[in-house]
Amino acid sequence: MPIFKPSQIAHSIYEIDGDALQRAGIKGIILDWNNTLMKKNAESVSDALITWLKNFQSRYAIKLIIVSNSKPPTQENVLINEIPALFEAGKPKKKAFINALNILGTRRNETAVIGNGIITDLWGGNRLGMYTIFVSPSWTKPHFIGMVKRLVVKVLRV
Ligand SMILES: [Mg+2]
Repeated sequence: MPIFKPSQIAHSIYEIDGDALQRAGIKGIILDWNNTLMKKNAESVSDALITWLKNFQSRYAIKLIIVSNSKPPTQENVLINEIPALFEAGKPKKKAFINALNILGTRRNETAVIGNGIITDLWGGNRLGMYTIFVSPSWTKPHFIGMVKRLVVKVLRV
């Protein structure tokens, strides 16, 4: 099931190795919002997260954009002042990713998608030939495979 297979897996975004991404020629990252950058319903942004984002931008010269299917947050959120964001983006539609690439100014093969959504982020990014990083705090291999199997069964039934 290669279309659901991530290029890389991480328990959290902090595990992602910027040096390795830079070596792989990654110049832009499309970041999911809910449960990737922000825990669902979380109100504040941690200093660690801001440091992580700034590090990617300055140290690795990797451009970042948030692409989320959610509505924009109602409360002020410092992340949105730091990096561009597309909300209600309609992932996994190709248009959602192409809009992001246009803003980043990067090609598909030099852009990574980081997210916790198997369809929205992994499949969406993979089918455009982008590098995909699956972020899941509860990641275990059997769990993931079971999840994909159930998903495929669901899709086939539709
Ligand atoms: Mg998500």
